[in-house]
Amino acid sequence: RSKKSGGNRFTFVSDEISSAAAEANDLELMMRTALKEGGFEVYYQPQYLEDGTLCGMEALLRLHHPRSGMILPDRFIPVAEDSGLIMPIGNWVLEEVARQFMAWSQAGLPQVRIAVNVSPLQFMHSDFLGHVQRVLARSGMPAELLELEVTETTVMRNIEEIARQMRELAALGVHFSVDDFGTGYSSLRHLHQLPIKTLKVDRSFVERITETNGTYSIVQAILSLAHSLGMQVVAEGVERKDQFEVLKALQCDVFQGYLFSYPLEAGAIPPLLETQTAGIR
Ligand code: C2E
Ligand code: MG
Ligand code: MG
Ligand code: MG
Repeated sequence: RSKKSGGNRFTFVSDEISSAAAEANDLELMMRTALKEGGFEVYYQPQYLEDGTLCGMEALLRLHHPRSGMILPDRFIPVAEDSGLIMPIGNWVLEEVARQFMAWSQAGLPQVRIAVNVSPLQFMHSDFLGHVQRVLARSGMPAELLELEVTETTVMRNIEEIARQMRELAALGVHFSVDDFGTGYSSLRHLHQLPIKTLKVDRSFVERITETNGTYSIVQAILSLAHSLGMQVVAEGVERKDQFEVLKALQCDVFQGYLFSYPLEAGAIPPLLETQTAGIR
């Protein structure tokens, strides 16, 4: 069986190498089966304005283990990236989100934007643009209601090719946000030149925002940078009321985290769209 880069990206200590490689193999096999037999599921985590209006959702992938329940993406996405499976999986997530969006929409529910995480590898692939266009065209999902979350690494890698695809997608109306902002490296010039609408402040900054000598000033600087570039800010991982209060005082635009809602299975979303989107469309 061919595997693009074997296990050599792992940096486990030597006596853990074989079990890590075995786990990666198991996961890879499980993902291949899941793609064929429907073992993946998309969860949705609501995002809110400060007044409690549901204004968007983030699509978060889950993998069902045949025996031991659900596996979270931090475990399987790296294996998917290493094995090339991230391409079909990423394509499936986009198609599934578009299908789900249209199902809710056709049921008469209010429409909100859905954010999809995109791996750098998907963007490197020359036909990412074409795939997104086809998914939108075939499903009928409006481009304006699709948001693609990219990481700082994505934005900084192969900048010319990625910038071209981002600009074409943005011209169609697709939104872009930078995920986990502040944890990677990005040049301000690139941030400024790319069609980015939103910065998502990483959870690690939100976590320590109320501490003495914590991350308050960093979050304040990110908000000021974003707003002066005409971008919005989403705070990720808001778990406590005191964090929410500080973020509101700093004029953060959108809030996401366990304080408001866990990621939910699709079936739990319609009542929220019914009751929490007053004023949207
Ligand atoms: P992310 O895009 O930064 O997503 C936010 C993660 O934080 C999610 O973890 C979410 O469940 C979790 N989270 C949300 N609110 C809170 C909170 O208040 N406290 C804490 N402690 N955590 C919170 P999840 O679902 O396990 O996903 C982890 C990462 O996996 C994502 O981080 C994203 O980078 C990646 N991922 C998820 N779905 C996909 C996908 O479809 N494609 C790709 N390429 N990556 C994905
Ligand atoms: Mg994300
Ligand atoms: Mg994030
Ligand atoms: Mg993350």
